[in-house]
Amino acid sequence: MRTIAIIGGGPSGTLVATHLLRRAPPDTRVLLIERRPSIGRGVAYDTECAGHLLNVPAGRMSAFSDAPQHFMDWVATHAGRPGFPDKADPGDFLPRRLYGIYLGDVLAEARRAAPPGVSLEIVAGEAVDLEEVAGRGRLTLADGGAFEADRVVLALGNLPGEYPIPRSLPAYRSPRYVHIPWRGDTLAGLKPDDDVLLVGQGLTATDLMVQLDGAGHRGTIHALSRHGLRVQVHRSVQPYRSFLADESAPGTARAWVRRVRAEVRAAAELGVDWRAVVDGLRPHAQAIW
Ligand SMILES: Cc1cc2nc3c(=O)[nH]c(=O)nc-3n(C[C@H](O)[C@H](O)[C@H](O)COP(=O)(O)OP(=O)(O)OC[C@H]3O[C@@H](n4cnc5c(N)ncnc54)[C@H](O)[C@@H]3O)c2cc1C
Repeated sequence: MRTIAIIGGGPSGTLVATHLLRRAPPDTRVLLIERRPSIGRGVAYDTECAGHLLNVPAGRMSAFSDAPQHFMDWVATHAGRPGFPDKADPGDFLPRRLYGIYLGDVLAEARRAAPPGVSLEIVAGEAVDLEEVAGRGRLTLADGGAFEADRVVLALGNLPGEYPIPRSLPAYRSPRYVHIPWRGDTLAGLKPDDDVLLVGQGLTATDLMVQLDGAGHRGTIHALSRHGLRVQVHRSVQPYRSFLADESAPGTARAWVRRVRAEVRAAAELGVDWRAVVDGLRPHAQAIW
């Protein structure tokens, strides 16, 4: 019996488990270790706020590259249920909460359909130690539980971000300061007329603005951006040429940025929106990684 342990049951760990259940040879035991109560949702999709939307159109969110319609079909079978749209188009940006439910269903289905001898065990707990003992991984959980595995997959997600000023400041210990903004209680204790400062001006800041707006917040929301840039609104664009297909890939992240910026300038001269250039990059995302 071969054991594969996956630490982290967010989207990455859940999808690794799903694909293993579909493809692993007989006599494979998959352990999925997650410290949160829910499987599949991770940080991004564990939100109850209906205004927190996917930032990728529904038609491109299938869990299976060989079945690009899979997410759309799943949404269609749930049409009209609470929180689900009556009808969805591939270009729609759906609530992230639905995607979390989808990933949970995808895993449950893979578990049901797994071939004989391939099994999944979901372990509720936090992995706190991992060492190699006689060529196998030995995992320890916070509650003292232990597992041995032939392979260990780390699907821990991103670690919490740095502090805005990297030294110990009393402000960081204040209840007014929220370092991890994705927890459900981020806005707890805030009065409707309080002012809010969002440090950063990306998608998480947008999430919080949507959440504040939905809660009827009246105070001023200040949003800080180092480069003075704001989140850009999505716009449907005509497809742009797949500009990286016929050349060798830049070797560094910085070179990629330069390459894409140059292409954005070239496209602008042809009257093509920069969003189309970003779309032209998407088919290469796997190769870039
Ligand atoms: C607010 C937000 C919105 C996003 N929106 C989108 C979107 O619309 N579309 C998109 O494609 N991507 C989106 N992303 C990116 C998204 O996070 C990634 O695509 C993907 O969900 C990351 O999943 P993950 O499993 O790697 O990480 P995570 O979601 O962080 O999951 C990691 C899991 O590992 C668990 N874990 C960590 N350490 C341990 C341990 N020691 N023991 C046990 N369990 C552990 C955590 O509890 C967590 O559940 C968004 C990200 C954020 C933060």
